[in-house]
Amino acid sequence: MSGLRVRGLHAGYGRTVILTGVDLEVHPGEVVGLAGRNGAGKTTTLRAISGMLPRRAGELSFDDTPLPAGPRGVARLGVVHVPEGRGVLRGLTVEENLVFGAAAVGQPHGRAERERVLAFFPALGRMLDRKAGLLSGGEQQMLAIARGLMARPRLLMVDELSLGLAPRVVVDVLGSVLSACREQGVALLIVDQNLRALATNCDRVYVLSGGSTTCYEDAASRTDQFWRSVYF
Ligand code: ATP
Repeated sequence: MSGLRVRGLHAGYGRTVILTGVDLEVHPGEVVGLAGRNGAGKTTTLRAISGMLPRRAGELSFDDTPLPAGPRGVARLGVVHVPEGRGVLRGLTVEENLVFGAAAVGQPHGRAERERVLAFFPALGRMLDRKAGLLSGGEQQMLAIARGLMARPRLLMVDELSLGLAPRVVVDVLGSVLSACREQGVALLIVDQNLRALATNCDRVYVLSGGSTTCYEDAASRTDQFWRSVYF
């Protein structure tokens, strides 16, 4: 099966070992969640997949091509990471952020490209000239995701999608990203503390604990056992 395949991923910081055997797959068109307690290593996992953090061991591939070591090569293969904290360029306008998302990986960024993405985030289309630093938290999250989609990913990885957002805003942001990815054939890997949102929207959820992952395939099996495995 093509898509993202991660086997036995090890990663850490200096002498600190964080990941000791992460296995996960995201197939084309799937929405997959990654959950775990604070500090379990969810962000570390995304950073290691996207090449922002060196991997110490593991076999990683996308559509059967080994994932390059560095972030630029990973993004060029179609795996795009929306980092925790959104990472929008606060001093640039909304439009400039969108252009940057495409240009950074050598993708076209003309008006048609921007409109393709803005169709799913109409509020952003009304504030193209506004500096990103002036947007609300929800608007910045939408911009970060829209900027990621400008890179024409085949897999979008979104870290802490709901962090700091009011529940109603989470519903809006999640709704937009799910429709955008579904309609554009982009697979989605979401890291989030909001387990209910993951359990409701994902085809499969991985729980990270003790440096390795457990996979929960079937929604019915994610009930009490699922919540307990994450929180206790
Ligand atoms: P949260 O849900 O709180 O964001 P997380 O599951 O995403 O947590 P990570 O951010 O991946 O967890 O962090 C995993 C561990 O690695 C934590 O103990 C954290 O303190 C540690 N860590 C993260 N970044 C660094 C770093 N640059 N240097 C050293 N340790 C780090």
